[in-house]
Amino acid sequence: MRFSIIGECMAELAPTDTTGEFRLGFAGDTFNTAWYLARCTPDAQVSYVTAVGDDAISGQMTDFMRDAGIDVSHVQTASNRTIGLYMISLKDGERSFAYWRGQSAARTLADDPSALTRAVAGADMIYFSGITLGVLPSDRREPLLNVLRQARAAGSTIAFDPNLRPKLWASDIEMTTAIMQAATVSDVVLPSFEDESDWFDDSDPQATADRYLGAGAKTVIVKNGADGVLYVEGSTRGDVPVEPVAQVVDTTAAGDSFNAGVFAGMAKGKTIAEAIADACTLSRAVVQHRGALVLIEPDNLSQNDAAS
Ligand code: ADP
Repeated sequence: MRFSIIGECMAELAPTDTTGEFRLGFAGDTFNTAWYLARCTPDAQVSYVTAVGDDAISGQMTDFMRDAGIDVSHVQTASNRTIGLYMISLKDGERSFAYWRGQSAARTLADDPSALTRAVAGADMIYFSGITLGVLPSDRREPLLNVLRQARAAGSTIAFDPNLRPKLWASDIEMTTAIMQAATVSDVVLPSFEDESDWFDDSDPQATADRYLGAGAKTVIVKNGADGVLYVEGSTRGDVPVEPVAQVVDTTAAGDSFNAGVFAGMAKGKTIAEAIADACTLSRAVVQHRGALVLIEPDNLSQNDAAS
C-alpha cells in the first residue's frame, strides 16, 4: 500500500532537564502521523510531501525523515527559504509553544500543482490536515484541493484531519469554511470532538460525524480523548471504548498517532473497529510519554495482528 502524506514538518526545540538548554528535534502534525505509520507498516510506502529549504537544517530534517523509513523523493526545495521552527516552554508542568513558521518553505508546497499531482499520483491513500491547509497562503488552498479532487477521481482514498488551529487563519469563519471545503474532497475524516464542539457547536460526536457525512465523507472517525471513539462508515455505526490511562504525561501527538494507527490497520486489511482499537492502543502509549515521537515497539501495539 502506498501513502502520500502532505504537510509541514518543523524543527522543534524542547527543554532538557538543564535550565536554558534545548534539544533539537523535528515534528509536525502530519509528519508525526507519517513517522508512526512508517514504524507500524514497514511493508507500506509512506511518502511525505512538503517543501524545505536548501540549507543545513533542511537537509538534517530530510535525513531524519529518510532514516525513519519515510520516502522523501517528493520533498520539494524552496531555495530562498528554510523550515519552520517551534519552541516548547515548560512552566509549572504546563507546556506552551512559540512558533516561527510564517515564512517557512512548507508554505510553498502547493505553488506548483503539477509537481503536487506527480507527488501523489498512484497513492492508495492521501492524507492531509487543517494545518496543511492553514499554513498555505489563501490562494494556494484551492489548487491543493483540486489536486486532491483529481487524485480521488483517479482512485486514491483521501483522508483528512480537520486539526482546527485558529492561530493559523485570518478569521474563525475563514477556518471553518476552508475545513468544510476540505471535507468535500475527503473520503475519511478524523476529527477530534473537543475542537469540533468549540468551533462548530456540535452537541455530541454524532453531530460532528453527521456534519462531515453531509459534506460528502464516506467514513468519519470522531476522537474524544479518554471518552471513546465514534465511527460511522456507510450505514455502520459503532463506538470503540478507550481505556483511560491513570496518569497522562503529555498529549502531544495523541491524535496524530491515533490516525497512523487507523491507517496502519486499514493497510493490514483490518475492519474499521479493529483498526480503531489498534489506534487506541498506540495513542494510549503515546500519551504516557513526553514528546511527539515516542519510540514504542510496533510489536507491542497491535491487539489484532492475527487478523492481518
Ligand atoms: P487530539 O490529540 O487530536 O485532540 P484526542 O485528545 O481525542 O485527540 O486523543 C486522540 C486519541 O488518543 C483518543 O481517541 C484516545 O484513543 C487517545 N487518548 C487520548 N487521551 C487519552 C487518555 N487519557 N487515556 C487513554 N487514551 C487517550
